[in-house]
Amino acid sequence: MIHSKMFILSDYGAVGCKLSREMIESVISFHGHFCVGLAIGIRVGEWVRREFGFSEDEELVSAVETDMCAVDAIQYLAGCTFGKGNLIFLDYGKNAYSFFRRSDNKNVRVAPRIEDSVEFISGKLLFDLSEQQKKLDSGNIMQQTLIRNSMINRILETDFDQMFSIKPAKISMPEKARIHKSYQCSKCKERVMSTRLIKDKDGNYLCKECNKE
Ligand SMILES: [Zn+2]
Ligand SMILES: [Zn+2]
Repeated sequence: MIHSKMFILSDYGAVGCKLSREMIESVISFHGHFCVGLAIGIRVGEWVRREFGFSEDEELVSAVETDMCAVDAIQYLAGCTFGKGNLIFLDYGKNAYSFFRRSDNKNVRVAPRIEDSVEFISGKLLFDLSEQQKKLDSGNIMQQTLIRNSMINRILETDFDQMFSIKPAKISMPEKARIHKSYQCSKCKERVMSTRLIKDKDGNYLCKECNKE
C-alpha cells in the first residue's frame, strides 16, 4: 500500500495509461492508497470509459468476479457502483470484469490474457519484481515501496491489449435494479425491503437477522 503523496505519477508512454494525472489522483483518493490492484483497475476502468462511456445512471452494468482493490477504480471510472445497483459481485476470486450496455446489448468480459496457462499480469509481466519482493525482509519498507512502484508503473505503461483479452460476456445481461416496497419486521420493527423478508412458521414476517435468532 502506498499513499498517493508518496507516489510520483509519471507519463506512461505511447501505449500506456492516458488518463490525466488529476483523474488518477482522484481514483487514488477514492480508494485511499495506490496499490498494484488499483493500477489494474485503472487500466480496465480507462478502457471501459473509452469504449462505453461513463455510466451516470445504470445504462452500463458491471459484473465483477473479485472484490479486491481493482473494483474501486472501476466504480470510479466507469460509474458502475454498488449504490446504483449497476455493480454486481460474482464471488469467483478472478481478476475478471464484465460490462453490459443496456441500449444496444453490447457486452464484454475483460480478463488477463492467458499465455501457457499463466496469467499474464501475475505471471510474466510482474514475475521478476514479485521474485525480488519475496526475497526482501518485511522491515525493508523503502525497498518494498520501490518495487511496488515499479509494479504499478509496469501495469500503467503496458499496452492494454497485451495484458487483457476482450471476449463476449459469459453471463447474460443482469436484470435492472428495481425499487421494492419496505415492510416492518415483526420482531425488530425495522423496515425491510419486501424481497428480503422471510415468513416464519407462525406466519410472521422477519428480517434475515431476526430470522437467524
Ligand atoms: Zn488497494
Ligand atoms: Zn428484524
